[in-house]
Formats: sequence, structure tokens, C-alpha cells
Amino acid sequence: MIDIDEETLQDIINIKTGLFFPLDGFMDSKDYRSVVDSMKLSTGEVWTIPITFDIDELIDDEEIILYFNHKEVAKIEVEDIYKTKDDDIEKIFGTTDTNHPGVQKELKRKKYRVGGKISLLDDTILQGALDPKKTKEYFRTKGWNTIAGFQTRNAPHKAHEYLHRLALEFCDALFINPLVGWKKKGDFTQEAVEVGYKKINEVYYNNLNIYFETLKTPMRYAGPKEAIFHAIIRKNLGCTHFIIGRDHAGVGDYYGVYEAQELAKKLQDDLDIKILLFKEPYYCRVCEQIVSKNCCSHKDIDKISGTKIRKMLMSNQIPPKEFMRREVAQEVLKLKNIFI
Ligand SMILES: [Zn+2]
Repeated sequence: MIDIDEETLQDIINIKTGLFFPLDGFMDSKDYRSVVDSMKLSTGEVWTIPITFDIDELIDDEEIILYFNHKEVAKIEVEDIYKTKDDDIEKIFGTTDTNHPGVQKELKRKKYRVGGKISLLDDTILQGALDPKKTKEYFRTKGWNTIAGFQTRNAPHKAHEYLHRLALEFCDALFINPLVGWKKKGDFTQEAVEVGYKKINEVYYNNLNIYFETLKTPMRYAGPKEAIFHAIIRKNLGCTHFIIGRDHAGVGDYYGVYEAQELAKKLQDDLDIKILLFKEPYYCRVCEQIVSKNCCSHKDIDKISGTKIRKMLMSNQIPPKEFMRREVAQEVLKLKNIFI
């Protein structure tokens, strides 16, 4: 038996609901190597982020009972136990820099990995989980045939809003699906993201074909590879389209601004979801609206910088209305903890 933490429990939930389809357990060495080396499962499907179970010593059990909060929750039928290689981190994150939050977190994990199918011993852990069966059923009852998935870890600003509206021009509906698992220090809290979206839905998006629910899985900050992982999850949830904008799942300047889009273009034929590649929206003072370089060539522009917005909110300031809706900023500023 092994005690697991909340993140491992969440992986198990995400595997069992089908959010991580086609995974039916933690990756064995064959899948792990294939994902790290060639962005594919051993069966050939595209998959870019390893989902693994780490232990600190070799064991010879055929199954491992997993405990959470002193209760049996699941078991792993052990297929193999393996070690990761030293250069795997660089292959996954494109860097070994220990300042990278994803690298830092990965380096803290235990030495060995256990691969194997998971069976649940306590179904109640699935209660309230984001469930592909339910989202698909919801989209079907609404009569939505094309649904664009939108990943975010931020309270909404005007550039996001531009992308939402663009997606609604392309598709029947938009699924705003903020990631609320582990995030690095300085990112928005789950609460800030949720109240921000609640407000924008109330004031600006009422009666639109928009569905909102959060996704619980940690950020890896793995840039392009994580963008593809995010797309696969949204396909599993019933989305037909997925938005990849500027520096998706990036951090600092580890990845090129449109590197995730380049990878998506390369893998598009093997992905069962259409990737919407949107350019970075900004405010143009001549056009007096949010535009992108595809539809405006002026030089007199204001970039909508998430960093700048965060800094203003941190010092209790309302960002300019060109950057963020006043109602959203006011709502977020009411919170005690806006940032992690
Ligand atoms: Zn312009």
C-alpha cells in the first residue's frame, strides 16, 4: 500500500473519467519512452506529456493499493517498474534550467516509475469531477455540433475576450475551461479566475453559447507539448476545435511566441481536433479597438500584457478599460488572495 497526494489522486480521477483517454492507467516504460522520445503512445496516438506514478524504491508487488486520507481509493496492476533517463527533462520541457517551474517540480519527484492499469476501489472519488460523458451529453442536448475549447489560467482580459468572440464566429459554442490545478507562484488563484469569469459571463456573455467548467490538473509550463496535451483533453471533453494563441502554456521566454502553433500545425493531421491558431490580440489606437496583425498594420498600439495587468491588480489599481473590463477588475480586487 502507498499513500498518495492530491495530485496523484487527481491523475487517477482524470484517467478514470476518460479525460486522459486512451490512458487506462499510469504509463508503463514503453508508453513513457515513446511519449518522451516521439510524442506518441506506443500504440501510435499522439500524446506529449508523461502521466506517471513515482515511487522511491523498487518493489516486487503485483498490485499496489493506493490510499488517500487513510482510505483505499484505487489499485495499480503493476506492469513494470522503471527509471527515467537524465535527458528526459530536457526532452519534455526543452530546458533543464532549474528556474523553470515545471522542471523544478519534476526534479523533486521520486526515482522510479510504476506503470500499470488502474482500478477504482472507491467510486466516490469521481463525484463532482469534470466528466467527458457529462460535457458531451450537455453539448448534445444543446444541439451544439462545433465547440471550441479555451484553456486559460488567468482572469479574463480583453485579449481573451477577443479570442472568445472569434471562436464564437467559427463554432456553435465556446467551452471556457480554466485550469485550476497546481500553478506557479504569482499566477492567479482559482478564486480570482472563477469570479472574473462569473462577472464577464454575467455582464457580457449572458445568453451566449458558452459553457464554463474548470479543469483540475497541474500546469507543467511545458509550452508547445503542453498545448497539444491541452488539446487532447478538450477533444476528450467533446470539443471539435481548440484555441492555441500566443505562447500557450509558456513561462518566461523558454518558448517561442508561436512555437506551440508550429507544433500544432505539424501534428494537426494526427489530432482528432481542429486547432484554431490565433494571433496575439492587441489594442490599436488608430482603429480604436482590439485587433491582431492579421487585420491591422498600424504601429500606434498597446500590447495587452498579462504581466502588466497582474502588476496593476497587485497594487490595487484598475487596469485601463482597453486591457480589462472594469467589472472584472473590480470583482477580482475584492478578493483577499488574487495571486498564488
Ligand atoms: Zn489599427
